[in-house]
Amino acid sequence: MPRIPSLDQSTCIGCETCTRICPDVFHMVSEHLAGIHNPTGDTEEKIEDAMDNCPVACINWAD
Ligand code: SF4
Repeated sequence: MPRIPSLDQSTCIGCETCTRICPDVFHMVSEHLAGIHNPTGDTEEKIEDAMDNCPVACINWAD
């Protein structure tokens, strides 16, 4: 089973970093808020790259 990322939208500051690193998983749902449109849309390595570069660390693996 692929690991599933979750994104805490109450913490997201809408910097667009995750959507640039991993656009097949993350997208902007409004001007200042990102969301997940396809949790298995890219490799775990790319998703972890987005996690590691999120300035507020609001992307994590769901259990
Ligand atoms: S990298 Fe983090 S703060 Fe920036 S848009 Fe993505 S989830 Fe939000």
